[in-house]
Amino acid sequence: MRRGLLIILSSPSGAGKSTLARRLRDWDASIVFSVSATTRAPRPGEMDGREYHFVSEPDFKARVKAEGMLEHAHVFGNFYGSPRAPVEAAIAQGEDVLFDIDWQGAQQIRNSALGAHTLSIFLLPPSIAELKRRLVSRGQDTPETIARRMQKSWDEISHWDGYDFVLVNDDLDATEARLRTIITATRLRRLQQPGLTDHVRALQTEFEELS
Ligand code: ADP
Ligand code: 5GP
Repeated sequence: MRRGLLIILSSPSGAGKSTLARRLRDWDASIVFSVSATTRAPRPGEMDGREYHFVSEPDFKARVKAEGMLEHAHVFGNFYGSPRAPVEAAIAQGEDVLFDIDWQGAQQIRNSALGAHTLSIFLLPPSIAELKRRLVSRGQDTPETIARRMQKSWDEISHWDGYDFVLVNDDLDATEARLRTIITATRLRRLQQPGLTDHVRALQTEFEELS
């Protein structure tokens, strides 16, 4: 059986993480989304339990204290965190879990006990002007929120070099194709295939019997 991957997608807000995450799940329905908990208010169209678990600040802090979060961070004035239990369950069953989280969360997961099973990918926008255009065209944030996200974008971009792979999300189809290639290859890493040891042992036995 395969050992599941923790696939981390980070980028400045608006570079295309959620769009690409959805496309990846359409490609492979077995990929599980990690549904984060957040203290921010839902945007129009967002549903509790689907995009996020929308929780109060005391509730969030209680979960962190009970070690219920694999990682957590303060982003744009709100708390965000990845619930631990669903991730551990999925990984144990050989399912890949996809995280749309910021660089702080990526760093914490990389340094956690599951660090060896992570695949981290950073998405860069083709230009800062295009990043702004995408944030505006998404039409979900107020001008003030957009301005705040644009201001924070450099902070996120400056951590690009901590990731395994970095893609410039210019053409959406091309970026999706590259992500599929990266995931397909990483699933074949030796560490993700715990059954290999037994297979090689069987090959050795057969080899010795024949020689
Ligand atoms: P994030 O999740 O990183 O904040 P989104 O996936 O919400 O970003 O993308 C922001 C906006 O940019 C959306 O309207 C999306 O359709 C658009 N977008 C994403 N990738 C591309 C791309 N390669 N070319 C053009 N528009 C894109
Ligand atoms: P948004 O409010 O636009 O949905 O997300 C804002 C930022 O928070 C994005 O950069 C997103 O990747 C990050 N984020 C969402 N969930 C989590 C999480 O569980 N942990 C961390 N560290 N960051 C998160």
